[in-house]
Amino acid sequence: MAVPRNRMSNARKNSKRAHHAKTPKNLSVCVNCNAPRLPHCSCPACGTYRMASIKAKE
Ligand SMILES: [Zn+2]
Repeated sequence: MAVPRNRMSNARKNSKRAHHAKTPKNLSVCVNCNAPRLPHCSCPACGTYRMASIKAKE
């Protein structure tokens, strides 16, 4: 296992983590009910995916 030779200062550690910010989730809009939903997923509000209802399966 690699062991660091020198201690990383707080400033160096924090500047390294300056690029670790999270990006917001990419949301798309349902074609059926215009509710926000994740891309490539069925709509959580009405249960359709690309105008085909998959809620009737249950
Ligand atoms: Zn929907």
